[in-house]
Amino acid sequence: MRMVLLGPPGAGKGTQANMLSDREQFEHLSTGDILRENVKEVTFIGKKAQSFMEKGELVPDGMVIEMMLEKINSGDKGRGFILDGFPRTLYQAKKLDIELDRLNLPIDLVIYFRTSIDTVIFRLTGRRLCKDCGANYHIVNMPPREKGLCDKCGGELYLRKDDNKETIEKRLEVYNTQTKELIDYYGAKGILKEVSGDLEADKVYEKLKDILKKE
Ligand code: AMP
Repeated sequence: MRMVLLGPPGAGKGTQANMLSDREQFEHLSTGDILRENVKEVTFIGKKAQSFMEKGELVPDGMVIEMMLEKINSGDKGRGFILDGFPRTLYQAKKLDIELDRLNLPIDLVIYFRTSIDTVIFRLTGRRLCKDCGANYHIVNMPPREKGLCDKCGGELYLRKDDNKETIEKRLEVYNTQTKELIDYYGAKGILKEVSGDLEADKVYEKLKDILKKE
């Protein structure tokens, strides 16, 4: 199964992709995670991407497409993969289709997480990440056992630089103007399914499993 998770920031794409990759052994490719790793390691890509990410703007298409196609090509394609946060523009989606058609591995399923703005703001402002292993928490919905520390590895938790109100608003504007049109693009291909991103993570996961069973 080759899947794309589509929806605004804070819709729960990363959480669901993590659950699916842990339980169903899909490879999880998160553009945001890969870019943040590059920023942390101060790579060529990281240095170029950092300022766009901090402003809540999209990193230029060319750079992201090349990076993601390389990841897809170097992974175990037979097992299937989940793309989380990619594609995010029509141009990226078309380039991805061209490459996957060439490999004879087209996208089978796109899940659109329909999510309200209130949910997005609540989730993103309360989100905390582990500095060491990247695990995700929420100060209200999913707090760690010990405040400020990761349950899994004991690493320090931090608030992402772009998870502040002003940058969240910019990211939502970018989503509305550059990403949202992908709903129609994949809808027209007949591979789009919708779930509510406002539900709790376990409920969303159940819905995803139902969809996957029918595929
Ligand atoms: P995310 O972790 O998915 O919220 O992504 C964090 C940031 O990484 C975004 O605000 C963008 O700056 C950048 N980014 C992630 N995915 C993409 C993409 N497909 N195209 C361009 N920029 C991206």
